[in-house]
Amino acid sequence: MYSRQTALIIGAGLSGIATAAHLARNGYQVTVLEKNPAPGGRCSQLNRDGHRFDIGPTLFLIPEVFAETYAALGERMEDHLDLRRIDPTYQFHFDNGTRLALTADMNAMQSQLEAIEPGSFGGLLRYLVEGHQHYQLAVQRLAGRNFYRLLDYFSPQNLLLLFKLKGLIKHYDNIGNYFQHPYLKAAFTFQDMYLGLSPYDAPATYSLLQYTELADGVWFPMGGMYRVVESLVWIAQAHGARFVYNTPVKQIEVDGRRASGVILQDGSHLSADVIVANADLPYVYRHLLPNKAKADRLERMKYTCSAIMFYWGVDKVYAQLELHNLFVAGDYRASFDRVFKDYSLPDEPNFYVHAPARTDPSAAPSGQDTLMILVPVSRLGDAAAQDWKALQSRARSAVLRRLADMGVTDLEEHLKFEVSYTPRTWQSMYNLAKGAAFGSINHNFLQVGYLRPKNRHRRYRNLYFAGGSTHPGNGLPLVLTSARLTAERILKEVGVPQMSRAFTSIPLRIATEYGDSE
Ligand SMILES: Cc1cc2nc3c(=O)[nH]c(=O)nc-3n(C[C@H](O)[C@H](O)[C@H](O)COP(=O)(O)OP(=O)(O)OC[C@H]3O[C@@H](n4cnc5c(N)ncnc54)[C@H](O)[C@@H]3O)c2cc1C
Repeated sequence: MYSRQTALIIGAGLSGIATAAHLARNGYQVTVLEKNPAPGGRCSQLNRDGHRFDIGPTLFLIPEVFAETYAALGERMEDHLDLRRIDPTYQFHFDNGTRLALTADMNAMQSQLEAIEPGSFGGLLRYLVEGHQHYQLAVQRLAGRNFYRLLDYFSPQNLLLLFKLKGLIKHYDNIGNYFQHPYLKAAFTFQDMYLGLSPYDAPATYSLLQYTELADGVWFPMGGMYRVVESLVWIAQAHGARFVYNTPVKQIEVDGRRASGVILQDGSHLSADVIVANADLPYVYRHLLPNKAKADRLERMKYTCSAIMFYWGVDKVYAQLELHNLFVAGDYRASFDRVFKDYSLPDEPNFYVHAPARTDPSAAPSGQDTLMILVPVSRLGDAAAQDWKALQSRARSAVLRRLADMGVTDLEEHLKFEVSYTPRTWQSMYNLAKGAAFGSINHNFLQVGYLRPKNRHRRYRNLYFAGGSTHPGNGLPLVLTSARLTAERILKEVGVPQMSRAFTSIPLRIATEYGDSE
């Protein structure tokens, strides 16, 4: 009598959903257990009074990774996502009212850059060449490959790679080789924030971000980023995966060298051949597994920052705002030091405003606006006083003040409702360690590649991990890569059920062995 291998996945974040889809398509009987009432995790959606907000991600980058995921599942991305290329990608607003629209149109870039700093267009061209080299090397030789042993990572070849990727040079120091004007230095380092890093700490490697935005483009799926979640859930379900919501896992049960099952919050027990934890890894070690020594070690790693969010439904359209708007603080250095060194909120913070109805009118009722505001702030902890109510109110005032400077003076009068998140919300809503929203473990050079937590537990050989706090890291393209690496490894180590051999489909582009998490 034939029986299918079973898999339990803890968490329906994008990485959990994609892992479920890969395993279900390859014959596993998959059950996804999610604590919240709907799938998506940080890539969730909020709908209220005709306003539709993406909770977290709004920048759809590196579309080929998404396309690869759909292809591995036997689908075409274009049948599921109506993608629009956004150009200019985003609008920078500097403190003296200067604007800069980043665009792939090099003539437009030339005139804007030269107006800010004569001669700087040549700097941009050189910077893009460097970003391209970093992108190719990092994707092919760091994110897209496996390291079996510590010595592989610290091999002479890899040390040369570290040198070529400028892994030991700070991004903000390196940008001085290309631009002198502080506005341009800010415009081409700010993107480190997407990784939850300060450009004063991040390695110069991450010039690859600016390159990929201008060369590969910034895209927008009509209907919002949640279309990615909905379509992958649909595909996973079509292959038989079952999603169970409002079902927090309380504990992973272990027996010798195996994870035998999970205990749910209501006390019930489920068992499976394979368990995949998509929930944030430091949380999993701290709260779901018995060995607290590893949890202590993870706690000592470097974490990303967090974000105070405002989701505003307004009954007026503010034409001053584009789809993506970045407001840069006058004191750029202090805006990061207050977050990363003082564990607080700067007096004058940087912030981002997303107005999806500019591209997709279905995001707001006609004649009204849907605004998402992201203010980077410290993660939880390490501060004498983190009074989140006070910090939230300060962030709100700073945003309104800055918007008023550009002529948006009556926003409060037109506010229909406000939903706001602090790092405490990120922690309680998605179980993110320290409320660190972008990772949670950060991407400095000592926490990537072999040195990032692995996708299998060292002791419990059938317990796997997928998501932003494992290899290769955070951001939708990387968590989809994480799902693929984890699913490939499970298929190789635990096996492919007999009945599915005919349609095994994950392209084994890279070897699947990978080190274990302790
Ligand atoms: C504000 C913000 C903006 C961002 N912007 C971008 C962007 O523009 N572009 C981009 O590419 N990326 C962006 N990101 C990053 C991106 O959102 C994440 O990398 C990605 O969504 C993480 O997916 P994940 O599956 O690893 O984890 P998560 O989304 O955190 O999913 C983990 C899931 O596990 C569930 N869970 C936790 N504990 C339990 C438990 N005990 N039992 C059951 N379920 C549990 C959680 O509820 C959650 O659903 C952004 C992130 C944030 C916070």
